[in-house]
Amino acid sequence: MALSSDPAEMPRQFPKLNISEVDEQVRLLAEKVFAKVLREEDSKDALSLFTVPEDCPIGQKEAKERELQKELAEQKSVETAKRKKSFKMIRSQSLSLQMPTQQDWKGPPTASPTMSPTTPVVPGSTSQPPPAPYAMPEFQRVTISGDYCAGALMIREKYARLAYHRFPRTTAQYLGHRRVDAAPLEEGLQDFHPPPLPQEDPYCLDDAPPNLGYLVRMQGGIPFVYDNKRMLERQEPHSLPYPDLETYTVDMSHILALITDGPTKTYCHRRLNFLESKFSLHEMLNEMSEFKELKSNPHRDFYNVRKVDTHIHAAACMNQKHLLRFIKHTYQTEPDRTVAEKRGRKITLRQVFDSLHMDPYDLTVDSLDVHAGRQTFHRFDKFNSKYNPVGASELRDLYLKTENYLGGEYFARMVKASRTQVPSAVALATGFQVGRLCCVQAEVARELEESKYQYSEPRLSIYGRSPEEWPSLARWFIQHKVYSPNMRWIIQVPRIYDIFRSKKLLPSFGKMLENIFLPLFEATINPQDHRELHLFLKYVTGFDSVDDESKHSDHMFSDKSPSPDIWTSEQNPPYSYYLYYMYANIMVLNNLRRERGLSTFLFRPHCGEAGSITHLVSAFLTADNISHGLLLKKSPVLQYLYYLAQIPIAMSPLSNNSLFLEYSKNPLREFLHKGLHVSLSTDDPMQFHYTKEALMEEYAIAAQVWKLSTCDLCEIARNSVLQSGLSHQEKQKFLGQNYYKEGPEGNDIRKTNVAQIRMAFRYETLCNELSFLSDAMKSEEITALTT
Ligand SMILES: [Zn+2]
Repeated sequence: MALSSDPAEMPRQFPKLNISEVDEQVRLLAEKVFAKVLREEDSKDALSLFTVPEDCPIGQKEAKERELQKELAEQKSVETAKRKKSFKMIRSQSLSLQMPTQQDWKGPPTASPTMSPTTPVVPGSTSQPPPAPYAMPEFQRVTISGDYCAGALMIREKYARLAYHRFPRTTAQYLGHRRVDAAPLEEGLQDFHPPPLPQEDPYCLDDAPPNLGYLVRMQGGIPFVYDNKRMLERQEPHSLPYPDLETYTVDMSHILALITDGPTKTYCHRRLNFLESKFSLHEMLNEMSEFKELKSNPHRDFYNVRKVDTHIHAAACMNQKHLLRFIKHTYQTEPDRTVAEKRGRKITLRQVFDSLHMDPYDLTVDSLDVHAGRQTFHRFDKFNSKYNPVGASELRDLYLKTENYLGGEYFARMVKASRTQVPSAVALATGFQVGRLCCVQAEVARELEESKYQYSEPRLSIYGRSPEEWPSLARWFIQHKVYSPNMRWIIQVPRIYDIFRSKKLLPSFGKMLENIFLPLFEATINPQDHRELHLFLKYVTGFDSVDDESKHSDHMFSDKSPSPDIWTSEQNPPYSYYLYYMYANIMVLNNLRRERGLSTFLFRPHCGEAGSITHLVSAFLTADNISHGLLLKKSPVLQYLYYLAQIPIAMSPLSNNSLFLEYSKNPLREFLHKGLHVSLSTDDPMQFHYTKEALMEEYAIAAQVWKLSTCDLCEIARNSVLQSGLSHQEKQKFLGQNYYKEGPEGNDIRKTNVAQIRMAFRYETLCNELSFLSDAMKSEEITALTT
């Protein structure tokens, strides 16, 4: 069974591996990694108030050298030889799945004659060294362990393709998939719903496709779709790829073993250092030429390239001043409106403030106290309480929630006003801005002018307490007309099962999954009966998993973990457990939706902000892209893999600065220079930003602190559009017709303001790194064939 990128080769299935096929060594090693991480977290916990996480082990020279010595010695050890064998096994497994004819391997592809990278000469490569005319001195050589990375990349590719996530074509080509060359370029593009045309009604409920009559049952946290009742009785599910936990555990073990493998660490660490130095040289030699290219580019500059805020929470998408003004405004204009109900008693807005002993007139940004500061550093608990204006959860419920007595009206009004593309008539109708019409008009018009080029992807919460959350969220969206062409919505699922369980709101984790995902399956199978949800899902492009990552769980996720149905304890499942089951549900759902010609969803979890390094391993398998990724600093192997797979990372250095990592230590600049696919995002403007234009504030501070060039900034902006859930049509409009092609071919400088020199540099560098992998694979193939 081939891992096909060709939709004609249906049915798509999940290729299963058996745990017994895995080398015992790899499994034990993976368990050791998990155990080590748990131990570290245990000991860290008590001290976490006082210690700042170790900054960057990569940068600490002495330790680095010592480690290198150790690793080189280890490289020769028997144990490593064994481990090597098992890595080769997984790779050959993947190879046999993916390379039909291994004999006629023709080497790396050449993109175009001018851009083709030269096959690099690798010191100490596994190919035979040329005969030397003099006696070669003996010295330590680093062998290429790049082929291990290839195995990891293939695993990611498998999971990405199954879920309709993205995997770069160039990387796939170097991994030796000739089928990729044959497939049309547009294939594999995300199916996001294009925005309605200006004359179309964004709330039109009439286009729901007919009922398919399928049935869905959740078994062990995995949704199974059946064509009809008879098939359900016979337990014969509809042909879709259903994930298998045992296979997932095997794949996960391989990556875990890989990130601790000495030679691989050395190799990746060196490649990353090389990438950074290479960029510095590039900057030195070509900065002026890049700038010259930009200077001669008509019309486009940093201000009018499209930027997407790729990570922002709707509940904090307005800034603190904005929230303050809105609270005062509602109090001035409608103090006697009933806004809540408590034990059958109706409560007016005035009574709410009276009960808090406060006069909104006296409120200031300081007394509102929603901004993060020194006190929130390493205190996620304190940070969470910042969502309560004046520390009062009543105000949070009233102003920042979609479900309350007013049906979330205040929240909707603020979200709408915080977006900048509101047609002024709508803004006036909502009554935002304290009554002074002319001022309002001027302000809205100006903001419209200024921010025509900004888009955002706010997260709305679905908690999984009840299946009713979905229809009520969809109703909120439609009733308050929250749609905006400049926004695409993402659903965030907070990892707080333990809280609901302890309050007896949920019987098991499985029930939570059902509440989150079954309504989506129902709306996909029978949109006629779920018109509002069907409509809302057109504007939803992905899922996020959120909460404090530094909270740790002492459960180790594996195929022996209790399945969600029997996860009934009050203990919260670990991060990797949440991620696997979310991925599993999204994957099946995407396949079903694709079959119906409906839009699919991306999985975009928060990951690597704090906590264990294993989170980044889970996301490497399951996520299309991640938010934060700070901890990639600590694992050269993962960082290099995230680079090779060009996994998008939405970074928020200002948010990190208030919570987990000082601004000056943020790895964004380093990641950007090495060529990782990073974008800038705001996370929570209410808590972190000072100005109306939070995203611009983010860019401006990064540019100032790190002395980023215009080309750097525009590259980040271009990345943000690529990462986002904007539709194919919009991306073509904002980045150029061929945006989906990789390398300079895909760049239209007139739209992106990114120099072609930069694009060519990035592309050649990536191809160069990938060619190491394919060289290493090739020599492995030769060895395999000759022995
Ligand atoms: Zn966030």
